[in-house]
Amino acid sequence: MIPVYQPYFTGREKDYVNQCLDSTWISSKGEFIGKFEKAFAEYIGSPHATSVANGTVAIHLALEALGIGPGDEVIVPTLTYVASVNTILQTGAKPVYVDSLEHSWQIDPEDVRRKITPRTKAVMAVHLYGLPCDMDSLTRICEEHGLLLVEDCAEGFGTWYHGKHVGTFGDIATFSFFGNKTITTGEGGMVVARCRAVIERAYHLKNQGVSPAREYWHDVVAYNYRMTNICAAIGLAQLESAASIIAKKRQIADWYREALRGLPLKFHDELPGTVHSYWMCSIAVDDAADRQPLREHLRAADVETRPLFHACHTLPHCAVEGHFPVASSLSARGINLPSYPALTRKQVEQVCASIHAYFQRAARGQAVDSAGLRRYASAGSAV
Ligand SMILES: *Cc1c(COP(=O)(O)O)cnc(C)c1O
Repeated sequence: MIPVYQPYFTGREKDYVNQCLDSTWISSKGEFIGKFEKAFAEYIGSPHATSVANGTVAIHLALEALGIGPGDEVIVPTLTYVASVNTILQTGAKPVYVDSLEHSWQIDPEDVRRKITPRTKAVMAVHLYGLPCDMDSLTRICEEHGLLLVEDCAEGFGTWYHGKHVGTFGDIATFSFFGNKTITTGEGGMVVARCRAVIERAYHLKNQGVSPAREYWHDVVAYNYRMTNICAAIGLAQLESAASIIAKKRQIADWYREALRGLPLKFHDELPGTVHSYWMCSIAVDDAADRQPLREHLRAADVETRPLFHACHTLPHCAVEGHFPVASSLSARGINLPSYPALTRKQVEQVCASIHAYFQRAARGQAVDSAGLRRYASAGSAV
């Protein structure tokens, strides 16, 4: 089976983890924490970073550090991972969904404008699957309306927009180091901010609200969202390999793009002025009816894939009325292909050959079995 993802450890991960074990510094104190935070902040070009236990608590912490809570509205793309929306709900604020753009799959700035109300406090930009949002438009809108800008960069490590790394445009930004993210610490996350007071507030809240000046003095309802030294050790080693990880992923995307040319699908392409980190190499088939049969065809060929996220406005606990045609269509047509750095050219070609075979069979009108979803791939077949 060719999986969608697997972590890539070719650097000093083992060495650094063993240093934690040998020194007994395995909890959330130790030298790797500060080193990882500093190296990470330097890598993305942000003045301040604080590490956390995962990418979900990173967003929750970021929102709380900005003072977002009950009565506030936060504008968020409906096409995102559920953590973006859950964390807004956890603060007591209301998520207000917007549609996506067909060409980039990212948040639609014009729809953001339409959704602004007197209660809007912040816009959350999510750099989905490794391509940046239209940050020129989003920063302009936030400035014009006095809104805070939060960036969920969980899928955007290695993603650049007009020469700046994502996470450096907004008031605060978050990253995830889950096992399938571009760099991983097993579980882990990072909060970065341009303003010292904001990161200090995030640090205070992640660390039980303990006073910096008085021992065991806690002055606010707070959390333990800290990262361990072991995770930071892995993170530092991953960061040292980041350039080669991203180069490999971009090479893999080029192989896919080349091999999939001419088929009735769109590759999730890089856009001018951006660097796509290809967290996922993704396609959207032209006809949503092909999505599940194609995925099953690939599974039979030992290729794992994933569907694009469900639009969050359709999930039971997030549901709202509303019309989000682009997000809904992308969500129904999108497939994430195997995207991990160690994929070989041969494996990518094997995946693409299988996709070609699917469409050839479909074109000939042969039966494509898809658990009863659709018996015949071509509309002309006698069903
Ligand atoms: C992975 C991810 C998260 C959550 O990160 P975890 O580390 O899994 O908690 C949040 N937002 C997006 C867009 C993600 O892809």
